[in-house]
Amino acid sequence: MSEFDVVIIGAGPGGYVAAIRAAQLGLAVASVEREPTLGGTCVRIGCIPSKALLESSERYLEAKAHLAEHGVKVGSVELDLAAMHARKDAVVKANTDGVAYLFKKHKIERVQGSGRLGGPGEVVVDTADGERRLAAKHVILATGSRVAPLRGVEVDGDRIGTSTEALAWDAVPEHLVVIGAGAIGLELGSVWRRLGAKVTVLEYLDRILPGMDAEIAKEARKVFGKQGMEIRTGVRVTGATVKGKKATVSVDGADDVVADRVLLATGRKPTSEGLGLEEAGVQVDGEGRVVVDARFTTSVPGVYAIGDLIHGPMLAHKAEEDGVALVELLATGHGHVDYGLVPSVVYTDPEIASVGRTEEELEAMGIPVRKGVFPFAANGRARAMARTEGKVKILAHRDTDRVLGVHIIGPRAGDLIAEAVAAMAFHASAEDLARVVHAHPTLAEAVKEAALAVDGRALHI
Ligand code: FAD
Ligand code: NAD
Repeated sequence: MSEFDVVIIGAGPGGYVAAIRAAQLGLAVASVEREPTLGGTCVRIGCIPSKALLESSERYLEAKAHLAEHGVKVGSVELDLAAMHARKDAVVKANTDGVAYLFKKHKIERVQGSGRLGGPGEVVVDTADGERRLAAKHVILATGSRVAPLRGVEVDGDRIGTSTEALAWDAVPEHLVVIGAGAIGLELGSVWRRLGAKVTVLEYLDRILPGMDAEIAKEARKVFGKQGMEIRTGVRVTGATVKGKKATVSVDGADDVVADRVLLATGRKPTSEGLGLEEAGVQVDGEGRVVVDARFTTSVPGVYAIGDLIHGPMLAHKAEEDGVALVELLATGHGHVDYGLVPSVVYTDPEIASVGRTEEELEAMGIPVRKGVFPFAANGRARAMARTEGKVKILAHRDTDRVLGVHIIGPRAGDLIAEAVAAMAFHASAEDLARVVHAHPTLAEAVKEAALAVDGRALHI
């Protein structure tokens, strides 16, 4: 039996980053992954391919509808969907190959197969060549998540699909119905809308993007509506079935909706089955999450869990931070993640990004705030880019001026939020942010102006 300091089951952003950091810290590491390529949901069928298609579809629409505004005349613009998918596949391959290269560089042992807990300090892997047993001082469970089924919705992988299928459809649907107005529904709904589909989004709640600041979500809904996406809120989908080439989506208290493709995007659930958790005595909660303490330890000593498999937002960067903090704890005794400062980004156009508390949360907590808002319409760079939709909103404590939440809808919001995260990590006040010199003309000046607006002194509005 091979022996390791750490055996990690699952090589998504949580597992593969933990493996690299553990190797950097001098630990002997094995990574067990059942897929032939590394990178997990994020790299293979999540973050990376979706962002590749978002980028390509944005360019298609830009060429088709917006270049003329810049004085650029193009002839007829045609979609080559096969080439778009081929580029996306190449982007994914570059990333999965990149992780494989890093594993080699760090001498991480790769074991392809399905892993589960064996006896204490043991992982059993079902490989193509039979069972292999690995001994480990520490076992890390990083098996991530998969699409949560929705009762009555019969996913057939063709007419009714999940994000995995929606990333690979070989023709633009005439009518796409998206169930759920979260990040997946809005990102992939945007891709297919831009490529020409009629898109109807059905959302159970009375708003889109639950968890995001309500004012920003309201603005997003308006913008998506202008882009031609039909968003119906307060609609509970109770089923979806396929007949021939059509799918029928049933809705509580309203008429059925018929479409040629349906995307189920109502959330994901942890992959905690098949890992031998019950036999080993690892505690799992009612949602299928592995229960861990503040040091990522499960109810069984020596067995740890990270990423989508445990509590917290199901985000790649959160999984990575979990992985780094855990192996640093194992190797050095110190490691920490500040869950109050995990940014969240939706990569639609415009992008939507946020960190810290929403206005509703602060109100519910009874925390007095001052709010500064600055629209991109008043930002010189945004005007030059012809990208004036959206705004930056900063919430600071009324008495201490400490920044408690930053919410952005606008061009490159996903990049702009990094400044807010860094400022908040250093407990900055709105005044601190406002006094930092920002290059001109940049989109980031809108962040500075919103910080000035907290004190009623925005300069350009
Ligand atoms: P995963 O990435 O799910 O990796 C788990 C790995 O474990 C998988 O490779 C799986 O094959 C393997 N595995 C499972 N069971 C076993 C077993 N028994 N033996 C061996 N291997 C096993 N997040 C963002 O932050 N930004 C985004 O833009 C973003 N976009 C997304 C778009 C889509 C369409 C989807 C679906 C998700 C997106 N996410 C995004 C979420 C992100 O992908 C996840 O939060 C992230 O992948 C979680 O990482 P993880 O390592 O915990 O698990
Ligand atoms: P989600 O939980 O973010 O959104 C699901 C939506 O479906 C919710 O708004 C919910 O109210 C709605 N819903 C639930 N049941 C319904 C029903 N019966 N009828 C109509 N609507 C219903 O889930 P998601 O969009 O599938 O994303 C899954 C995970 O992946 C999330 O944790 C997300 O953070 C992550 N993700 C992140 C990104 C990103 O960071 N850009 C991108 C994609 C996915």
